[in-house]
Amino acid sequence: MPVYDKKYDVIVVGGGHAGCEAALAASRMGASTLLLNLSLDNTAMMPCNPSIGGPAKGHLVREGSALGGEQADAADASAMLIRMLNTSKGPAVRAPRAQCDLKEYERHFRLKVQTQKGLDVRQEKVSDLWIEEGRARGVRTLYGYDYEASAVVLATGTFLGARVHIGPVSLSSGPLGQEPSNELAASLRSAGLAFRRMRTDTSPRLHVDTLDLAELTAQESDEAPVSLSLWGEGRVLRDYRCYMTRSNPRTHDIVRGNLDRSPLSMGWMRGEGPRYCPSIEAKVINFPEKQSHPVFLEPVSRSNREVYVQNFSTSLPLDAQAEMIHSLPGCGRAFITRPGYAIEYDCLDSTELSPWLEVKKVAGLFCAGQLNGTSGYEEAAAQGLLAGINAALRARGDDPLVLRRSESYIGVLVDDLATKGSPEPYRMLTSRCEHRLILRIDNAGRRLAPLGRRLGLLDDDRWRRINESWRRVDSELERLGRARVAPSDGLNSDLAGVGSSPLTETLFASDLLRRPEVPYSLVARHSPPSDPPRGEEVVSVEVEVKYRGYIDRQERQVERMARMEDVRIPPGLDYSAIPSLLTESRQKLAAVRPVTLGQAGRISGVTPADIHILSVWLDALSRRSGENEAQGRP
Ligand SMILES: Cc1cc2nc3c(=O)[nH]c(=O)nc-3n(C[C@H](O)[C@H](O)[C@H](O)COP(=O)(O)OP(=O)(O)OC[C@H]3O[C@@H](n4cnc5c(N)ncnc54)[C@H](O)[C@@H]3O)c2cc1C
Repeated sequence: MPVYDKKYDVIVVGGGHAGCEAALAASRMGASTLLLNLSLDNTAMMPCNPSIGGPAKGHLVREGSALGGEQADAADASAMLIRMLNTSKGPAVRAPRAQCDLKEYERHFRLKVQTQKGLDVRQEKVSDLWIEEGRARGVRTLYGYDYEASAVVLATGTFLGARVHIGPVSLSSGPLGQEPSNELAASLRSAGLAFRRMRTDTSPRLHVDTLDLAELTAQESDEAPVSLSLWGEGRVLRDYRCYMTRSNPRTHDIVRGNLDRSPLSMGWMRGEGPRYCPSIEAKVINFPEKQSHPVFLEPVSRSNREVYVQNFSTSLPLDAQAEMIHSLPGCGRAFITRPGYAIEYDCLDSTELSPWLEVKKVAGLFCAGQLNGTSGYEEAAAQGLLAGINAALRARGDDPLVLRRSESYIGVLVDDLATKGSPEPYRMLTSRCEHRLILRIDNAGRRLAPLGRRLGLLDDDRWRRINESWRRVDSELERLGRARVAPSDGLNSDLAGVGSSPLTETLFASDLLRRPEVPYSLVARHSPPSDPPRGEEVVSVEVEVKYRGYIDRQERQVERMARMEDVRIPPGLDYSAIPSLLTESRQKLAAVRPVTLGQAGRISGVTPADIHILSVWLDALSRRSGENEAQGRP
């Protein structure tokens, strides 16, 4: 193939959620970027339920927004329903979730990538990686050119070696009838990278006009405006609803009666399926004691009449799917517009990656998204953003960006992938994060926007608006600490209304707010600010006052652990030369090649005693190199 006459800084392969974010981030940072996609018509395609956010996933999206990512804006712009979830629980697990119009979401991304300065977008099928002397030089395509770049980001999702299964039918296909990507899968294997086979399923779609809505429980959007973007004004959306129904013993009997026709029992599928988003078959098999599972019927677009059947993914034959659907209350006459199916695909063993998403064996090659063994649009976009940033940094010869576990869910996600790997599709959960109270939705901007600004990913207007927001929160916190509230009949009656004891003497407004049952709105009513906090700023004020003690404790813990994160491990360290390490630890350390002592401590199977031995060894090593330097020796 001829070599294309323009050499790029960054090439991104794949125009899904990860690829679009990577391409936008790299080009916005000033890197000349090329985005190659199998089909421009599948840009940011949503082959599963078009919902964005929820606990942990919403945290990833909000953090992406703080770093200048696009997914939150796409979700806000296309939302049909939007809600803040977990409002009755602690602030750490509250998160927005939007049910998006999948066509509008795709259009948002397609327009963004096609109008982004410094970004060329072309339909091409990448067949091969161009690697020379352990370094990525570019990519080769099936019917076009060879393209050269300083860094390459692969974001090929579920397409590598993809096979679709519905009952006894098994065919070579990408999601929703897209072309699979078989040549590239072979090329990556021949580069010596370790792969796994994984699997995920999706649900049938139904025609909304064939549902008996009166038999279903409706769920509306929130009354208060909610947005995923840090800068969104929030919208209240009343035109669409989602509906709830439940599976029942009859549904489960139908599933059981058809299991012998499932692709798993027929031995077609080998890939590992998702533990946290299992098919209805897996639920019936693994939880035989459960008589019922909740099922949600959610709209997918303003431009069609289809609904997605959430929590009901299946790869049983179509006739069995129809019987199962008809057994659900409200779905007795439902018409299936698209059958559910399972898709199996190749993905990278993510321990091949560094904590900045570069393949350790191939300099300049970055991987992001479902290719790395994750599942979900949010996980994909978050990785794409980080990979795009790091590809741009690599192209200009700068140090890579590593996000710490203590500063972001994105850091937790990437550290888990690089350090522990995942034998099954990895989904972000709040329980994976040890610093939940300091990694909240409402403080994502404080944590990451300064970094987004330094990287050149936040424009002046966004930076000014977020600074104004921080100023409002800080001045209100300062005011609450000095304003005094005196007892009065009105105040005591309001306190009684929230189950709080009456005030008998004057106290600081912050002390009143510190009472767990007293909301900020009550305090502000009796001690009004001149420039009141708005929207989620109120949450930040409340959390700062009510949870300060717990936050301090978590911050001290982070400081202690930060010392281990700062101890760097030389890239070529010979673990076989360290005496007394257990063989298992030595093998795992040599396989993962952690970058810091902190990362070494998180490798499963490496004992705390071995981390201590390693730490003493690194100390001695750094003393020796200090002495050598002082004596002018290399
Ligand atoms: C059947 C199914 C069920 C799913 N279920 C869920 C779920 O329940 N919950 C959930 O959160 N997520 C689910 N997902 C996952 C969600 O769709 C993915 O996690 C998300 O799309 C991954 O984004 P990505 O950018 O990594 O890859 P994708 O969105 O798959 O995008 C990959 C891109 O790479 C391009 N590409 C591939 N090969 C080449 C090549 N050789 N040359 C050029 N371009 C190429 C493709 O055209 C595509 O644009 C499901 C996906 C599928 C297919």
